[in-house]
Amino acid sequence: MKDMSILLRDGIIATQNQSREIVEGDLYIEDGRINEIGRSNNEADHVIDCSGKVVIPGLINTHNHVANTLLRGFADDVHLHEMLEKTFEFDAKATRRDVQVGALLGCLEMIKSGTTTFVDLFYWEDEVARAVREAGMRAHLGWAVLDEEISTQRGTPLDNCSAFISKHRDEDLITPLVSLMGVYVCSEETFLAGQQLAEKEDVMLHTHLSETRKEVYDHQKKTGQRPIEWLSKIGFLTDRLLAAHIGWVTIGEVRVLAEKDVKVSHCPVSNMKLATGGVAPLPEMFENGVTVSLGTDSPVSNNSLDMFETMKFCALLHKADRWDARVFDAQKVFDLATIDGARAVGMEDKIGSIEIGKRADIAVLDFASPKTTPYDKARIVSHLVYSCNGANVTTTIVDGNMVVDQRKATGLKEDVIYDRANEIAVELFEEE
Ligand SMILES: [Zn+2]
Repeated sequence: MKDMSILLRDGIIATQNQSREIVEGDLYIEDGRINEIGRSNNEADHVIDCSGKVVIPGLINTHNHVANTLLRGFADDVHLHEMLEKTFEFDAKATRRDVQVGALLGCLEMIKSGTTTFVDLFYWEDEVARAVREAGMRAHLGWAVLDEEISTQRGTPLDNCSAFISKHRDEDLITPLVSLMGVYVCSEETFLAGQQLAEKEDVMLHTHLSETRKEVYDHQKKTGQRPIEWLSKIGFLTDRLLAAHIGWVTIGEVRVLAEKDVKVSHCPVSNMKLATGGVAPLPEMFENGVTVSLGTDSPVSNNSLDMFETMKFCALLHKADRWDARVFDAQKVFDLATIDGARAVGMEDKIGSIEIGKRADIAVLDFASPKTTPYDKARIVSHLVYSCNGANVTTTIVDGNMVVDQRKATGLKEDVIYDRANEIAVELFEEE
């Protein structure tokens, strides 16, 4: 899988650089970095003919629970709290092997649909890390922390999280973080202990926040404060935090997030499927300068990890919600899944755009297809958001290594993963 140099010849490159330039020509990658954009006379170990193809920065999925692929289609058409009850039942009987196979399947789905980086929150995150390594992806992984007395994890969640950070601190493509489940299962002490750990280890924090109306009003009933107000008072809202959802919030709360430089992962498909009761106020977040990115959320609540779908749903949801087709355009949505996603995980100097010197995280899409015809430079971004899906992806490169070549994963045995996932699903759900 280690490639010294790759030349993507004669494509159309959506760079996502400062001026959002679209360049016709070659992209030369050497030692994991983007080396030349435009015309290249370099010889390369691998040359890929990209005529009829579009080259984009790898997509960044900032909220996921990747091992839950095994629960795909298992808890549809129910509210979040009912979905959680069902998934907790599964969690209680899942084994390390199940998490590993679920994570492999999810990573496979992501690389085959052009996602190169993701953020994950789960237990047995070391199994997820193993799958990430086998797939050759980049990931920010957090061992799920929640109150000890309600956890079904073996051992103390915070200690598990801490051990995970120590073990994975020095990996190239894996960045550990501290992830807390949310205000409905984490006390003030748990939030503060998580924050202390993140500060000590100098890593990011991740949590679910203000996802549903029920979460917000239950918390208000219990503490007299809305979740964002409460977390702000205990000092948990800082630039270290990436918060998923932020769907049921006031404009005042958006201003607090902006002031504290909290990053947001917006998960439109999951929010719509679970009927969470609010739409994240993206226009006001943009106006106030909040960094917003896109996440799929879990394969239980989506049920797909295809970021092209998430981009399209994001674009449509806000138009429908505001009765305004101009609310924001396809270019902004593409930004959320690329350069803004990189900002949300503090990696905008390394990934998120195709610029010389950046790490080579790239997806190549076949545009010689009915759904992307006709196309020209001016229509590329429109097609990426409104017409494509993950099936257009032919090649995925992470850190200069080809992880998908001619639509096939290079480091994962696809058939074995499908067979094992199907077998485990039968075992798990037949015991019911
Ligand atoms: Zn989630």
